[in-house]
Amino acid sequence: MRILVTLGCLALLASAPVPALAQRAYTHADTLRGANGPGRAWWDAQFYDLHVTLDPADSSVRGWNGITYRVLAPAREMQIDLQEPLVVDSMAQAGRHLAYRRDGNAFFVTLPEAQRPGDVATVTVWYHGRPRVATNPPWGGGFTWTRDSLGNPWVATTDEGLGASVYWPLKDWLGDEPDSQRIAITVPDPMIDVSNGRLRSVTHNGDGTTTWEWFVADPINSYDVAVNAGTYAHYSDTLAGETGKLSLDFWPLAYHVEAARRQWPQVIPMLQCFEHWFGPYPWYADGYKLVEAPHLGMEHQSAVAYGNHFANGYLGHDLSHTGLGLTWDYIIVHESAHEWFGNNITMQDQADMWIHEGFAYYAEGLYTECTQGRMAGAAYLIGSRRNIRNDRPIVAAYGVNAEGSGDMYPKGANMLHTIRQIVGDDARWRGILRGLNQTFWHQTVTGQQVEDYISRAAGVDLSKVFEQYLTTTMIPEFDYKVEGGTLSYRWTNVVPAFDMQLKVNIPGLGDRILHPTGAWQTLPVTSPDAAQLEVDENYYVTARDVGAAAGGR
Ligand SMILES: [Zn+2]
Repeated sequence: MRILVTLGCLALLASAPVPALAQRAYTHADTLRGANGPGRAWWDAQFYDLHVTLDPADSSVRGWNGITYRVLAPAREMQIDLQEPLVVDSMAQAGRHLAYRRDGNAFFVTLPEAQRPGDVATVTVWYHGRPRVATNPPWGGGFTWTRDSLGNPWVATTDEGLGASVYWPLKDWLGDEPDSQRIAITVPDPMIDVSNGRLRSVTHNGDGTTTWEWFVADPINSYDVAVNAGTYAHYSDTLAGETGKLSLDFWPLAYHVEAARRQWPQVIPMLQCFEHWFGPYPWYADGYKLVEAPHLGMEHQSAVAYGNHFANGYLGHDLSHTGLGLTWDYIIVHESAHEWFGNNITMQDQADMWIHEGFAYYAEGLYTECTQGRMAGAAYLIGSRRNIRNDRPIVAAYGVNAEGSGDMYPKGANMLHTIRQIVGDDARWRGILRGLNQTFWHQTVTGQQVEDYISRAAGVDLSKVFEQYLTTTMIPEFDYKVEGGTLSYRWTNVVPAFDMQLKVNIPGLGDRILHPTGAWQTLPVTSPDAAQLEVDENYYVTARDVGAAAGGR
């Protein structure tokens, strides 16, 4: 999803203290937005035919969306989401006007005909208004109406979390993606709109506007559907990828072409690295695009938004505190990683956003490994632990569009790095990452499905590991003591039945894989220095010598 990862990271860079969030009370509106409710569950979105006209002069939009759906179960009332203050002008089906009532950001439409399972039908919604303006894109989302440094109008949308219904009507639930989508954006001349998928047509309307018609041939998550309208240049390239020729299209602002040609070639080794680790790029039909945007960046599917000022690092910073993050462009790497984790494999519920952000942050470590070796990749991830707050759990409440802690980024990544140690075999680990993308190809999933897949493919029950890192703020503590010739050890600060393995280097014995549990276990040791043991730092845990000699209990 968006660089929300960066949400946490940005706050860290600004040294902003983050108050512990009280569990907020969820409302009826949260449930309408976040649950697969009765107005949603009976129909499956097949195709969105979206047409939007932008008017930068007064920050307004008007347009229509043809919602084609397949009936899954009999029903009469359909929920369609469109956020205030936008106004619906009318809705129709097969030439007949439809009656509807508004409930905040949701509309409930009465369908006159019986909806028979298997039928395919279309509801068209006409609407207009001045959509919410983004307060802090890409995090505080909505529309950005701005100008480039030459004074040309520049417009962009960002709405992960907030929802695509901030500017167009749809079923705004992550678990249902259309199989394909048209995105036809009309802008004043001479603006160019770059949206997702492939450019199908450019129509000069003869009234001082032009319609840029884009077509996405694959399922797309709605928050990725984006407007980028400005004074763009375009150049292209191709990559001989795993499954053939992948088109690469680059859309910098016209006066940034030289900067883009200098910085954006990083796209090639990035795609090669991620195809190696994750499998084929998921959108050969739609191609890969990088589009300059007036915000930091966002993983808009097949049209990644870029605003990192053509420099390495994260706005010039290194999130890992090792220097390694300054050797590549954070936005190219992180946002593009979402094409696999986030866009190919998409969370059904916002609560499971670690599927997007934990893996995308982990991918930063893998890219460092691709370019600078295995040790460097590990150092990047270990260094990023300084960004973990353990303020609240990573997984949030389900069914209310809630989002967990920003720890989903660095802590999610370090959980995955820890699991790689448990798997203990790089080929197998790579097979798991590729297997996830193959098994859940172009699908929406629950976190549970991802956890179960990894456990099964690893041949290790990791359910307690996921429970520990995703649903609590506790870091496992390895407690140990050496008394006489005996090392005693156990886990504390863990969920019940936590039994994760741990690699420890013990003087006199060398590297050992231990299997601590909550109960004390013992191991005979020979060296008088055995208490100077070292826990493998690739595991995200703490360790404590609780022996008498160490001043423990
Ligand atoms: Zn992200």
